[in-house]
This record gives sequence, structure tokens and C-alpha cells, in this order.
Amino acid sequence: MVKPAREPAREPPAEKAKGRCVVCGRPRDPKYDPFCSKRCADIDLHRWLKGGYVIPGGKPPSTEGEEEP
Ligand SMILES: [Zn+2]
Repeated sequence: MVKPAREPAREPPAEKAKGRCVVCGRPRDPKYDPFCSKRCADIDLHRWLKGGYVIPGGKPPSTEGEEEP
């Protein structure tokens, strides 16, 4: 058997970009990794609970400016 050749890295998927919140794409907070804040962690959790988890295509949340620690 021959091992399949590793393909060269192309554009990394957003959800795999380290250091970025998987919800809104902002820099992560180590306390809420892989999210930037508790708010985004809650958003992700609710998506899971609803059974409709979908990775956004880089769409930022409409409400901003209230997630400072
Ligand atoms: Zn976020």
C-alpha cells in the first residue's frame, strides 16, 4: 500500500484558523477558547442544543460592543 501524498495546504477553513473565534472570527480569549467571549460560547451552545449547528461563513453578529471583559 502506498500512503496518499499530502496535499499542500490551501486556504484554511475558518473554523480551523487558530486564534479566531469560531462564531464571529474575532481573536479568541483563552478562557473561552475556541471563542472570543462567553457570549459567543453561549451562541454556539444554543446552536448545538437546537440541533441546527451551522458554521457561519464569516458573518459577524449584528449586535456588537458589549463583550468587553
Ligand atoms: Zn466571538
